[in-house]
Amino acid sequence: MENEMTLSFAAISENEALARMTLTFFVAALDPTLEEISEYKTVISEAVTNAIIHGYEEDRSGIVTVHAALDGREVTVTISDQGGGIENVEEAMQPMYTSKPERERSGMGFTIMESFTDSLSVDSGQEGGTTVTFKK
Ligand code: ATP
Ligand code: MG
Repeated sequence: MENEMTLSFAAISENEALARMTLTFFVAALDPTLEEISEYKTVISEAVTNAIIHGYEEDRSGIVTVHAALDGREVTVTISDQGGGIENVEEAMQPMYTSKPERERSGMGFTIMESFTDSLSVDSGQEGGTTVTFKK
């Protein structure tokens, strides 16, 4: 099956549910198991939350874009922001690394995303924001 969609929304936490539900409907065509649905929801939530709280530092005027594509049974999803970017991606992806320990974040977002996907890549520069791509 071939299909594609793009969703852009303001960087406010209420929209995390919008992204989660939209992706769930999109992948429904593949008849995923309940476990797979819950994994998609977790991964998209972690990535969108990161864009809002880290990328945009909760500046609600930021825009988060989710793009999803279906190719056969493979789903490719990108979550991108135009926020502050990640200085050191390798360090950021280490389990338990967080730049916001004072906010009681556990630094497990990327580790969780990796464990629920077939592949995960993070592209980030200081100026161009951050794009997270996963395949499942
Ligand atoms: P948790 O996800 O467990 O609440 P966390 O968000 O700090 O904690 P990760 O999701 O693994 O942990 O992200 C690790 C770090 O990568 C963040 O602390 C932040 O510094 C950086 N980061 C992640 N996503 C972005 C982003 N979209 N823009 C800027 N920095 C980011
Ligand atoms: Mg996180």
